Amino acid sequence: MITEIMNRNSPFSYRCNGCGRCCVNKRIQTNPYEVLRLARNLGMKTGEFVQQYLDKEGPYLRVTAEYTCIFLDNKSCGVHQDRPIACRTYPLGRWVSSNYEETYRELKSHPGCEGVYGLDGTVGQFLAEQGVLPYLEVADRYQALFYRMFDALQQVLPTDSDLPDNAQNAMFRSDQADMPAFMEWLDIDGAVKIYCAEHNLVPPDDIVRIVDLHVQAINQWLDSQPGGTP
Ligand code: SF4
Ligand code: SF4
Repeated sequence: MITEIMNRNSPFSYRCNGCGRCCVNKRIQTNPYEVLRLARNLGMKTGEFVQQYLDKEGPYLRVTAEYTCIFLDNKSCGVHQDRPIACRTYPLGRWVSSNYEETYRELKSHPGCEGVYGLDGTVGQFLAEQGVLPYLEVADRYQALFYRMFDALQQVLPTDSDLPDNAQNAMFRSDQADMPAFMEWLDIDGAVKIYCAEHNLVPPDDIVRIVDLHVQAINQWLDSQPGGTP
């Protein structure tokens, strides 16, 4: 078993044998891009998706009473083409430091996992094979936004209190009624629809353009805040 800290050049290979065990007893967290990909896979808008497929308590895919992922169909993933990052990088975990240095470590194997570990490739090749690189690029953009939000909110919030209304309006927007803030944050279609209406833009169909507008909308709000200087 490989346990050391790895980078994309480190020797690594893994062959999945489709046992489905990594889709059980696991909480799969989602970001707006992952929700957008999953929603489109199912022919939905993100507002519907978050209401139907996310846990009510946080940004995680729902699980069944047996604690299996809601998308597990027998031993197969029902949304394989658009599965989230955690599903693509398993059995590796990715860590990104505050100065954007990326490392990988092998995660604890699921009991009974039938995958085959090896060294006849690299971490980078494995990631490319899993189609995760576009996901990581977007995840890093959202991480940069989070750092900016954190800095800006420290200036905006005088005490440990709720977000001010203008922050709520800029960062958590949805065209769906009565959703908790984490769901509004993930309803990227709703946020972009509102932003486009305010800026006389036609809401795009292309998912890369949708993410661009989402990031742009939040950055514009951050630019206008006392602590939001780029
Ligand atoms: S999204 Fe697919 S791969 Fe990921 S946990 Fe669910 S069933 Fe498994
Ligand atoms: S536990 Fe390993 S072998 Fe089984 S489905 Fe998941 S990645 Fe594939």
